[in-house]
Amino acid sequence: MPWHGRLNPYHLFVALYMLQQTQVATVLPYLRRFLKAFPSVKALAAAEVDQVLRLWEGLGYYSRARNLHRAAGIIVAEHRGRIPRTEAQLRALPGIGAYSAAAMLSIACGEPVAAVDGNVLRILSRVFWLPGGGREGKEKQRAERLAQAAVPTEKPGDFNQALMDLGATVCTPRSPSCDVCPLQDRCRAFARGKPDAIPQRRRAAMRNVSVVAALVRKGNKLLLVQRPHAGTWGGLWELPNVRLAEGEAEAAALEAYLREALGLQVRVGERCAGLEYGITTSRISLTVYECEVAGGRLRCREHRCGRWVKAEELAGYALPAPHRKVLRAVVVAVGGAGY
Ligand code: SF4
Repeated sequence: MPWHGRLNPYHLFVALYMLQQTQVATVLPYLRRFLKAFPSVKALAAAEVDQVLRLWEGLGYYSRARNLHRAAGIIVAEHRGRIPRTEAQLRALPGIGAYSAAAMLSIACGEPVAAVDGNVLRILSRVFWLPGGGREGKEKQRAERLAQAAVPTEKPGDFNQALMDLGATVCTPRSPSCDVCPLQDRCRAFARGKPDAIPQRRRAAMRNVSVVAALVRKGNKLLLVQRPHAGTWGGLWELPNVRLAEGEAEAAALEAYLREALGLQVRVGERCAGLEYGITTSRISLTVYECEVAGGRLRCREHRCGRWVKAEELAGYALPAPHRKVLRAVVVAVGGAGY
């Protein structure tokens, strides 16, 4: 884990936000860059949220970045810049749930509390044969009891980290490495020869979604809009875009959206880029059209604000990865420098 070695509570605190929903290997380079830019909780609290989002770009689940930034502000204002050391104070911070609080308390303060995340639940459900993965009802209560009973009073932080490491590197979701696992001789799933049959998987249905986006130019600038802070990709900048309703024509939908949501009358021109990507249970097809302003004035009804941005300024804006990708393709194609 990234905080192994000499423990800095602030480093652990940041890492715990980044590690929610994301694997260690993905987090590490982000964590290094982040701690270099914001070496203390005070530096983080003093930063603009846009700077924080820019460094988070690509890591996803952006509410974590906003929560971390808000939490830093609260820690500076209410705890004199020290990371809190009680469960109640930790849980009162935005984005800190039971797992992060327990990890913080056991690793930084030596309290014998179980830190149960998805990795630990997977190990428990395999070792004790909980077919549903200990996620619901009685199984969940049993998993919590088993987890708490297993935590030693000595070095509980080391124990929790060992379980996290084991889940991340040995008892992996698919093809666990049982031959090197220290729990092999007490693992019921291994004894039954079916280690990765648990937890039983529920396949989520994927749905197809079509989105059209506008590349609106004014001289050598193009229009970006900033998403509201709440919700997916909150606070990030993007090309104005709209999800198509069943059977809706792309150009007409885009033209109506720009008029209603942004107060701009546009002529929709040629398709200039396209990209397919997935988010959780959606397969998204994004198509971008060149648009020319024919009238109106920029007024943001759904977004925080809109801005006309030069190609060379794009690197300073936090964008969702798909929008960054299509913009790179389009801007490089028309000779945008330095992007
Ligand atoms: S023996 Fe295999 S399934 Fe059981 S805990 Fe170890 S890695 Fe996981």
